[in-house]
Amino acid sequence: MVGNGVMNEWKMRELMCEIGRRIYNKGFAAANDGNISYRLGEDRVLCTPTRTSKGYMKPDDLCIVDMDGKQISGKKKRSSEVLLHLTIMKTRSDVRSVVHCHPPHATAFAVAREPIPKCILPEFEVFLGEVAISPYETPGGQAFADTVIPFVKDTETILLANHGTVTYGSDLEDAYFKTEIIDAYCRILLLTKQLGRVNYYDDAKAAELIKLKPNLGIPDPRLTRGLENCDLCGNSLFREGYGQPGPEPKVFIHPKLLQNGQASGSGVACEMPTKAAAPAASAAPSSNGHAGGPDIDALVKAITDKVMSALAGSGS
Ligand SMILES: [Zn+2]
Repeated sequence: MVGNGVMNEWKMRELMCEIGRRIYNKGFAAANDGNISYRLGEDRVLCTPTRTSKGYMKPDDLCIVDMDGKQISGKKKRSSEVLLHLTIMKTRSDVRSVVHCHPPHATAFAVAREPIPKCILPEFEVFLGEVAISPYETPGGQAFADTVIPFVKDTETILLANHGTVTYGSDLEDAYFKTEIIDAYCRILLLTKQLGRVNYYDDAKAAELIKLKPNLGIPDPRLTRGLENCDLCGNSLFREGYGQPGPEPKVFIHPKLLQNGQASGSGVACEMPTKAAAPAASAAPSSNGHAGGPDIDALVKAITDKVMSALAGSGS
């Protein structure tokens, strides 16, 4: 048993160095940026050292800390950001590995504090689902680590405002892949925006994708809350976790948000259609064509009527 444990730990050290090389080579962590962790046992967490490039780590460079962040072993000092990793692990007992870095495309969304839009790419919907943006805090301390707590249970991908990303999962590769997926997705979004036209699919199609997740062994909190109660193409799941005001979409706005804004009548939602009117109106007719023929006219008229009545009633 002891021999196996040592073997496993060495394998994990090698794998962590390998993940570090991928992060560095992908440009997700410049110079000595980024950190990675893996829970070896109940109170033992393997993690990357501070001031070391993730692209050039050797298994011996890694540190072991306890769940409070106290260093147990390793000749180099552990990263100060390991507190973020431990906070996530304490909140989610199923999480064994955490990856934090600064992938440029996803970090651009974190700097803009633009919510990650949904109902655009099916693979993203299935493999990542909801993504949150946690509030900004000076990196390193416990206050910084605590910013993610409201979101940790409902997602495994969080954008850290004005900073980077943190992704986590059941093992090292699982945690790392989410970083790759979110950055690839954000890159596609930015390229699409350059083309000038973003098409979305609707809630019914989103529900079809989310229903595939249990068969793939991927949990999704929206399944337990009841898909019909969720604003699948909007960004409702994290509203309760956000302070006031939460990040609002300014660049990627699903046409559905127009309708929601009118329906809910809340201050934030009522504001949205005013700002969203121009981009959403241009996106609506070019959506995936499910609404055919005369229905489109009826839909456009209904939306226009709602926008006009909201504008008339939102003088405050
Ligand atoms: Zn960082």
